[in-house]
Amino acid sequence: YAKDVGKNNYQVFEAGMNIAVERRHRISRNLALAIGRTELTLAYQPKVAIASGGIVGVEALARWHDRELGIIGPEEFIPIAEDTGLILSLGEWVLCEACTQMKRWEAQGEERLQGISVNVSTYQLNHQNFVEVVKGVLEKTGLEAGRLELEVTESAVMQNPERACAILTELHQLGVKIAIDDFGTGYSNLSQLKRFPIDYLKIDQSFISGIATDIQNAALVKTIVAMAYNLNLEVIVEGVETEEQLAFVKNLGAHMYQGYLCSEPLSVEEFQQFLGRTGEKDKTQWR
Ligand code: C2E
Ligand code: MG
Ligand code: MG
Ligand code: MG
Repeated sequence: YAKDVGKNNYQVFEAGMNIAVERRHRISRNLALAIGRTELTLAYQPKVAIASGGIVGVEALARWHDRELGIIGPEEFIPIAEDTGLILSLGEWVLCEACTQMKRWEAQGEERLQGISVNVSTYQLNHQNFVEVVKGVLEKTGLEAGRLELEVTESAVMQNPERACAILTELHQLGVKIAIDDFGTGYSNLSQLKRFPIDYLKIDQSFISGIATDIQNAALVKTIVAMAYNLNLEVIVEGVETEEQLAFVKNLGAHMYQGYLCSEPLSVEEFQQFLGRTGEKDKTQWR
């Protein structure tokens, strides 16, 4: 009897595996076709200066609505795109689209947005010609290098620190800004990152959710902000959802934040409306 149960469990397990494998196949196949088509879009989330409350930047986040599979989040499709190498064409499309959109906002006289951030995956960063890809996109779109910010994670940088440092230095010399994303979740520490040409540190949202009540998280964020000051880095806090959390990180001296409190990531049309709405109220304040 026990043997039968084990066997059944295994069959259920195997069926589950097959479904997962099947889904991955479908995702990679459909995603390959979606690049450059309307199924793949960018969502835009504002970046707010904590001291003034004004909008100072925007992050581009990939969105995919597949006709067959429905809406699939980047947490699911980006890792698959990395495994299959699709991330190279996907990543270049994201870069190009984000830079083009930033140029449009410039052309309409939007002065609040100092730059646009684009997420870069480990595979992309470590791929041979990443610097050339970025240069090519900047040339093609005509965006000034100083208006582009690249977000890389600690783990992407630490996988091959020498190489990552060389690539980031080359990009930084072009004028591109560099941010470390999801900071605090990796194994590196700030002293290891000191030699990298970094402009911004983005504190991972997992530290913010309980910040007003969790003493440990609060202490951690406080330490990160203090160390960032010493290294001349600007701190961006991710995932701010409440006034309480905002008050807390403001008190610690963090420079900028992103989060649902201001806005969730928006479609290009919605972001346009958001700019209009916040611009009318006050040229520098979003609320
Ligand atoms: P990320 O770059 O750290 O982006 C922040 C994520 O947190 C986004 O999820 C955003 O929608 C979400 N978020 C923003 N504010 C809040 C908040 O107040 N509360 C909560 N709970 N969440 C908030 P999203 O868009 O699902 O993206 C997830 C991750 O996927 C990104 O994390 C990034 O690592 C990756 N990703 C997204 N687009 C791209 C892309 O074009 N290329 C690459 N390589 N990775 C991407
Ligand atoms: Mg990011
Ligand atoms: Mg992040
Ligand atoms: Mg993240």
